[in-house]
Amino acid sequence: MVIATINPTTGAVEREFAPHTPEQVEQILARADAANAVLRRTTFAERAAWMRRAAELLDADLEQAAALASTEMGKTLGTAKYEVTKSANGMRWYADHAEEYLAAEEPVPAASVGASAARVVYQPIGTVLAVMPWNYPYWQVIRFAAPALMAGNTGLLKHASSVPQTALYLGELFERAGFPAGAFQTLLIEGAAASALIQDRRIRAVTLTGSVGAGAAVAEAAGRNIKKSVLELGGTDAFVVLPSADVAKSAEAGAASRTQNSGQSCICAKRFYVHDDVYDEWFALFLERMRATTAGDPFDPATGFGPMATEQVRADAHELVADAIAKGATVHTGGELPGGPGWLYPATVLTDVTPEMRIFREECFGPVACVYRVGSLEEAVELANDSEFGLAASVWTTDAEEIARLQDELEFGAVFANGNSASFFGLPFGGVKDSGYGRELGAFGIREFVNVKTAWTA
Ligand code: NDP
Repeated sequence: MVIATINPTTGAVEREFAPHTPEQVEQILARADAANAVLRRTTFAERAAWMRRAAELLDADLEQAAALASTEMGKTLGTAKYEVTKSANGMRWYADHAEEYLAAEEPVPAASVGASAARVVYQPIGTVLAVMPWNYPYWQVIRFAAPALMAGNTGLLKHASSVPQTALYLGELFERAGFPAGAFQTLLIEGAAASALIQDRRIRAVTLTGSVGAGAAVAEAAGRNIKKSVLELGGTDAFVVLPSADVAKSAEAGAASRTQNSGQSCICAKRFYVHDDVYDEWFALFLERMRATTAGDPFDPATGFGPMATEQVRADAHELVADAIAKGATVHTGGELPGGPGWLYPATVLTDVTPEMRIFREECFGPVACVYRVGSLEEAVELANDSEFGLAASVWTTDAEEIARLQDELEFGAVFANGNSASFFGLPFGGVKDSGYGRELGAFGIREFVNVKTAWTA
């Protein structure tokens, strides 16, 4: 894997970077270890002040930071700005809430365990390695970094090889804001080298967002070395529309979800299960929205979504579409590789998708919707749950009993009713099955990487 900025709009290599040498990696690890000894003795108030300052710096760098994301991975400038601002606000969220999330607790009366005092305290566990993807190159990193640093842990970022300049920017941000030298650093190394690093005694835990294959490699190394891991591995999210739904609103939301970030989001709706009673009306509106959302230059404000992030990601998505078409799927729009430079891919809508087709089960990381007609809530639940993945689902119905049933019966880490799947600072984010384990965000996210210590005194 070349560590390089390859502009997805033009296909041109803009900058290449040599991976860090073993000596440089050793220096970075030693700095992290030294920073760890300092950071764990700082107060929440000190860390919160540095975190707020880092958020201010990110806000001040908004224009350049957003343009960098558009240049390195092709998202539209508007969505890149939204992501940078969300990241800064996420940092403020943890600056405000970390102390309360990690406050000592007294889960039982001390006398009931024969003690004069029995408390649970949350302490930092040390240096955490974060292996991160390119799709939300700021937000994916910040939603790890903000809670980790606020908990008093040091972080090492191994970012995707396709976003090295964003990685280097983030590797300097926290020190610029006042965090101790080495508190958060970037390693320019390949994926396999990151897995190999997990055995180093100075790395105490690892978190990864990315593919199932990379997640399994990291989890295997973590398991062999008895280290905690958190995995966020994407999904084939279900979108269920029942007869009482607001048809127009859900059709528009479905198209927005499927094309956001050029379809390269773990929580984009990917499989649409629409009730027979509203299918024709819903499908016509959805198709119209998908056709109207066009791919183009990420710096042009009229563009619906930008190019795919890399040639490989586009090839992988198109392979799934071509396989489905070859096996009898109906294409209503899109489905063809455009000519010209860069990695554009059109919004694509498929029906008549059957279990023989790879896209029936595999995650398609592109703006490709598979729409299915269902006869009942039960059928929608059965099909939605018939998946190796379980990250998030979005359900559309105005019937409160149906909402309760769907939120109970769907096997996903989150079920959103009458709204698209999303991540919120205060709510846990993560999946079940092949979508991974552990949670990011909220109190659950910050408690993943701490020593939950029992402090008992006779
Ligand atoms: P990867 O899973 O390969 O990349 C994600 C991160 O993992 C990158 O930093 C990558 O580094 C690293 N990595 C890769 N292999 C290893 C390894 N053996 N050990 C440790 N780290 C590793 O995703 P791709 O970019 O190749 O995308 C492939 C597919 O993954 C997508 O089509 C999509 O289905 C899924 N994906 C899901 C994401 C999500 O948000 N959940 C995000 C991105 C991808 P490097 O770049 O150097 O290879």
